[in-house]
Amino acid sequence: MLHQRNSIRASLDDDVFASNDLSVRMPKYQMHRDEHEPHHVRQVVIDELMLDGNSRQNLATFCQTWAEPEVREIMALTLDKNMIDKDEYPQTAELEARCVHMLADLWNSPDAANTLGTSTTGSSEAAMLGGMALLWRWRERRRAEGRPTATPNLITGPVQVCWHKFARYWDVELREIQMEGDRLLMTPEEVVKRVDEHTIGVVPTLGVTFTCQYEPVEAVAKALDEHHATHGIDVPMHVDGASGGFVAPFCDPDLVWDFRIPRVKSINTSGHKFGLAPLGVGWVIWRDVEDLPEELIFNVNYLGGNMPTFALNFSRPGGQVIAQYYNFLRLGREGYRKIHQAGYDNARYLADQISKLGPFEMIYDGHGGIPGLAWKLAEGRDTGFTLFDLADRLRTNGWQVPAYTLPPHREDLAIQRILVRHDFSRDLADLLLADYKAALAHLDKHQPKTTLTEQEAGSFHH
Ligand SMILES: *Cc1c(COP(=O)(O)O)cnc(C)c1O
Repeated sequence: MLHQRNSIRASLDDDVFASNDLSVRMPKYQMHRDEHEPHHVRQVVIDELMLDGNSRQNLATFCQTWAEPEVREIMALTLDKNMIDKDEYPQTAELEARCVHMLADLWNSPDAANTLGTSTTGSSEAAMLGGMALLWRWRERRRAEGRPTATPNLITGPVQVCWHKFARYWDVELREIQMEGDRLLMTPEEVVKRVDEHTIGVVPTLGVTFTCQYEPVEAVAKALDEHHATHGIDVPMHVDGASGGFVAPFCDPDLVWDFRIPRVKSINTSGHKFGLAPLGVGWVIWRDVEDLPEELIFNVNYLGGNMPTFALNFSRPGGQVIAQYYNFLRLGREGYRKIHQAGYDNARYLADQISKLGPFEMIYDGHGGIPGLAWKLAEGRDTGFTLFDLADRLRTNGWQVPAYTLPPHREDLAIQRILVRHDFSRDLADLLLADYKAALAHLDKHQPKTTLTEQEAGSFHH
């Protein structure tokens, strides 16, 4: 019997938790000398990741945290496709081109069949390319007029950090319209105040990061038309539709924000947000060939092909782009509409329920922006806790509903925000509400001696 038991034990040696391998320490910050068994290392890696948050309970992210099994299969099958090798993988390149034209058509391009555009790694790269096109075009015009080109500026509302990057990397002055009192977005008046002959463009956001709201693209365009007529300064627009670019066309088709406005020269969006593709794909589309300066396009003679590219990266995975194409075929306009409408319904339901739960005031209740909600503590109420305490308490149930303060001028205002995505069902919303209620009851009963600050709660970056 003993002998038998030993042989049974020996046969279990494969178990990583009892293997020789794991009695050996693997250095954390140095590469070790010898190889290890793949299944052991796999377990070590998976164990490390166990301590990450559960992405589907991460209600802060705009990015996709769920994919159909078919998408996972496509991602696995396309692991070897390099987006840059357009000559080697011409069909991958073809699918990318189809997506560009579908998006141009979705955004009402006057000439969708001939529009220029490209996939990117996300909206950040897409914004960089869009901003560069504005800068190059402005310089071209100025040089043709014999005027100086040293001090370009860009006008935005309260923007995502990618525009701060663009401005810093290219030495462009960012004229950001900061929040003021209850005005949390750009307005036509504030835009026009900042325009001068050095303005390379105006960038409204469709789905502002902080509050989820849409900026008034059409009204800003009208104000710029009037300004052009009276002052002779013709300023192009680029729309940051990172989220809204994949929501408004389906759920708000009458909202005019896209290429229906002649002043809108380019648009970026994130495929991996409301485009429902896996992480790692964005898009930027130009209205017209002339809106993308030719000097920015590299004709790469590479591995037997001469291919035009405009990108910051060279090699880049093709799977996300292929999965995007899958989604376009799989869902169609009606599929996207249904999914995002369900998101709105759940966002509005949550906004309604959370308002009733306690001393909260909605800043954004799911109307006039993307599927989501944002709220603050009602003013003038001594609750004895902050939204940071609440966010911290919710973490005990795995929910990540971070609280954060707004950008400059409204840093005094702390809010909590939820993005309602594809995978957040009504049932999950109810479970969250039950935990929110319990968190409130807990904080009421055990009032914190000192309330948490943003820093202590762990700062949250957009
Ligand atoms: C998310 C976001 C970005 C950055 O997009 P990535 O795809 O994450 O690079 C830019 N602008 C806005 C408005 C966003 O919401």
